[in-house]
Amino acid sequence: MSRADFPIFNAHPELIYLDSAATTQKPQAVVDALSSFYSKSYATVHRGVYPMGERATELYEGARAYVAEFLGAKSADEVVFLRNATEALNLVAEAWGRPNLGPKDRIVTTIMEHHSNFLPWQRLARQTGAELVVLPVTGNGQLDMEAARRELQAGASVLAVTMVSNVLGTVNPIACLAAMAHAQGAVVVVDGAQAVAHRPVNVTQMEADFFVFSGHKAYAPTGIGVLWGRSELLAQMEPFLVGGEMVNSVSLKKTTFLDPPHRFEAGTPAVAEAIALKGALEYIKNIGFDSILGQEAALLELLLTGLGQIPGVSILGPEGHLREGLVSFLMDGVHPHDISGFLGEKGIAVRAGFHCAQPLHEALGIPATVRASIGIYNTEDDVRTFLRGLEDARALFTGERQWTTSTASR
Ligand code: PLP
Repeated sequence: MSRADFPIFNAHPELIYLDSAATTQKPQAVVDALSSFYSKSYATVHRGVYPMGERATELYEGARAYVAEFLGAKSADEVVFLRNATEALNLVAEAWGRPNLGPKDRIVTTIMEHHSNFLPWQRLARQTGAELVVLPVTGNGQLDMEAARRELQAGASVLAVTMVSNVLGTVNPIACLAAMAHAQGAVVVVDGAQAVAHRPVNVTQMEADFFVFSGHKAYAPTGIGVLWGRSELLAQMEPFLVGGEMVNSVSLKKTTFLDPPHRFEAGTPAVAEAIALKGALEYIKNIGFDSILGQEAALLELLLTGLGQIPGVSILGPEGHLREGLVSFLMDGVHPHDISGFLGEKGIAVRAGFHCAQPLHEALGIPATVRASIGIYNTEDDVRTFLRGLEDARALFTGERQWTTSTASR
């Protein structure tokens, strides 16, 4: 795995990109997959009975089969191509949730959800009269498992939970939560947006009912996302969007829809992006999760240790617990936006804000944080340069220079 695989770093050799939790850069293999499809085989799918149309369909359906294998799904028919995780979560809430939930139901979610896995459920609860239960985090930034046990035992129809928090980096024990939720007959919806590029996912082993992710956070293009759903559930669901591509027959009196997954793919799909998603997942697979986990853990350690040595920095998220390679933090007396603006000027990309997780920031009593997040292309040098930049930011904004080890050794 190497920075050299990513053409963005040829165009910007000095760029230190630590914003992969927002979106990842693209390897040449993915750029090539897009370019090759558009320049050699472009056509839309499921329509043309001419060779190029058939080839496009073959590539698109091949991508679906690859995603299914990557996720450990039982069948490619359980994989629906959508625009992103947000669309997939809205689809689940609307196509499964709305017809199945009413005033007697409880929707259990967590305070660490991205707005994409919170707002569809909040709206559904408001409109159907279902109760929305929001599980808290502990002081250590982990999901409060006591509260989870208690609330799930009190009855739940759905558990909507993220696999990895995009703010805290917390990795949630999905299999354990799924077992508790299933004991109450709940459907388990897992947001895998921050997980898929960083750790192995097996939807069958984790016993999820729905699992979603966005391609663009896993080295694939924008505009392609995935909903995996258990076939029994998908089969019962009405389409979310209606239009071309997803029908069996349409007449003035009666319309019938295709079976899943095509029932949920109304309109011309993101064919090139789906094919390039396969390229991205192949790229990840070829590197292997052992090596990704090892490298990201080493960089995370360096990041956490370095941040811990900068006076006035407080780190969010679990200590001494499984966490992803993303770290949100605060610096005493310096606004997060000033830090990210200052680093940005130096060619270091990090994100500041509430990262589409406003309820979490509200619960923690903080307006915003800075987030540095690791991808497959990051190096120890990236992390060291970032830490030095942060010390400079501190010196500038607080008027103080502390001689820490890394400052002194520069
Ligand atoms: N869920 C999590 C945990 C995320 O971090 C994000 C994006 O930041 C999303 C969902 C939404 O992803 P998208 O904007 O690609 O739909």
